[in-house]
Amino acid sequence: MIIVLKQGLSDDQLMAIEDSVKRAGASPVLIEGKERSVVAVIGAAKLETALFEQLPGVAQVMRVSKPYKLASREVKHEDTVVRIGNVAIGGEQVVIMAGPCSVENRKMLLESAQRLSALGVTILRGGAYKPRTSPYAFQGMGEDGLKLLEEARELTGMKIVTEVMAPDKVEIVAKYADILQIGARNMQNFDLLKECAEIHKPVLLKRGLSATIEEWLQSAEYIMSTGKNRDVILCERGIRTFETSTRNTMDLNCIPVLHERTHLPVIVDPSHGTGVRGYVAPLAMAAIAAGADGVMLECHPEPEKALSDGPQSLTFDMVERLLRDLEAIAPVVGKRVALSHKLPSAAKPVKKGHAAPEAVAFQGEHGAFSEKAARQYFGDKAKTSPSSAFRDVFQKVVAGDAAYGIVPVENTLGGSIHQNYDLLVEFDVHIVGETKLRVVHNLIANKTTKLTDIKRIYAHPQAAAQCERFLRQHPQWSILQVYDTAGSVKMIKEEKAMDAAAIASSAAAKHFEMEILKEGIESDPQNYTRFIVISRDGRDPGKGGKIDKVSVVYATENKPGALFRTLEVFARRGVNLCRLESRPIPGKPFEYLFYVDLTGDVHDKSVSGSLKELKELTTFVKVLGSYPSA
Ligand code: PEP
Ligand code: MN
Repeated sequence: MIIVLKQGLSDDQLMAIEDSVKRAGASPVLIEGKERSVVAVIGAAKLETALFEQLPGVAQVMRVSKPYKLASREVKHEDTVVRIGNVAIGGEQVVIMAGPCSVENRKMLLESAQRLSALGVTILRGGAYKPRTSPYAFQGMGEDGLKLLEEARELTGMKIVTEVMAPDKVEIVAKYADILQIGARNMQNFDLLKECAEIHKPVLLKRGLSATIEEWLQSAEYIMSTGKNRDVILCERGIRTFETSTRNTMDLNCIPVLHERTHLPVIVDPSHGTGVRGYVAPLAMAAIAAGADGVMLECHPEPEKALSDGPQSLTFDMVERLLRDLEAIAPVVGKRVALSHKLPSAAKPVKKGHAAPEAVAFQGEHGAFSEKAARQYFGDKAKTSPSSAFRDVFQKVVAGDAAYGIVPVENTLGGSIHQNYDLLVEFDVHIVGETKLRVVHNLIANKTTKLTDIKRIYAHPQAAAQCERFLRQHPQWSILQVYDTAGSVKMIKEEKAMDAAAIASSAAAKHFEMEILKEGIESDPQNYTRFIVISRDGRDPGKGGKIDKVSVVYATENKPGALFRTLEVFARRGVNLCRLESRPIPGKPFEYLFYVDLTGDVHDKSVSGSLKELKELTTFVKVLGSYPSA
């Protein structure tokens, strides 16, 4: 039975309702939802609805028709999203769990964790306690395996899912794991289910080899029945049928059936479902197309040497290819694959003595144009922190490893640096300033190299675009792309490459003691790059100057006139729009974000009024910062 609560009931009324449930010999479990909140009445023989109908704060009392209550959609309409730190399972996300069948040794586990983490996998799987059909087969490493999983988590930041086979092992597995897995063979081990009902850790409940959906949901209900543990994830892993061509038969029917009957997330394990490496990817794709909330994949550094389930284990290259395909499929069904590099980064506490927290992070080696921009903005004494990618600059700022970051966003010859626009949305940072740097490019080589010796040029695509006229005069040169201008100078120096040259700043030539063969090779001397300065908390870099610029990003509905209506707001309120840029939304093909720069301070009445109105007309708005323009 469920008691549907009236909106806005008081705490006292709720307490009175819960007390009357207890007096009737049942347990009340409060389930709060956006749409409605209910008290589920659990554990008593049939009670009369009239017992509760007249209580203040009660909207309606209903019987639940299913044998499972807390797991049912009737009781909770909204999808359950299980959250572990910044990883979410359920809702619009497609979660990827991957790893070896068994934890075999330190080397293979850490290698697997590092490879998978680099691909963006957020949850590492691996059995330390293994349910094996033969008593003579490898039974798992036990607690030593759990310790290795813990080490892999510390190394990569991935979350851990691992199996618990017996009630007396729940405590120890829960000590190490982020998610406890109950295997197919244990789906109806009721003592194990009851033990998992007492803990506050998510449980991944695999479907029994011959269990019906209704039996499976009743097992989920066991875990939820105390009201203490609500985080159950269902995992379809194939069932026994008359078919023998595959290890099991994947019941993809269960995905829409479950989504109809339960609010719990549903993931799919095509490795055990098929038992054949080559069949895993097609079934994983089909599962996502059918609406699954994630996949669990078995993989191994050397599948042919695996101690368990080698024939169904993927190589890491196969995982990589599959993830790309899943990323393409998920948006078709309104979901997105939640890879770690696409998740909002949780702000980590500042580690003492780790880096220089007062530093300014920039992309590239010392001598990069970004470092020059940092010195132009913060002064010659600024402490700078080289970073290999733009993403690392954002990460250092968010983690508190650098007080500020500086990244380019547009160049007068080469155009926008789109990646940094995307990172501004992804990371929780504020723009606190900007600077415009005149960019003079130089052809740089080793000391004895002459212009006529050159066969190869290492250049950043942006730098090559800015020097296009000069490079066209030397069609015999092959242009090789690099993503670090100063780094390419370092590279040709270290390689003693006498037939190569790099395009970079004079500061890079000086830093690496290399020769400038030709100065000022940019196609037009009016070559400027605009850099923005970012910080985690919006702290003012103390540069002074009047705040006269506001940067905002937003999305509109895909309807005629939607963008026009947003721009009309600025025009009507007399706010000057000094830049408009559109970018595709990652994971939503042919939908766009609009980046606008406005003249003014976010506290100006006209600007704050426009932003308030903008909220009503858009599906997403983020004010990126308000700062003095350069
Ligand atoms: C496993 O995931 O390691 C496993 C043993 O799976 P299942 O319980 O589905 O057979
Ligand atoms: Mn396995």
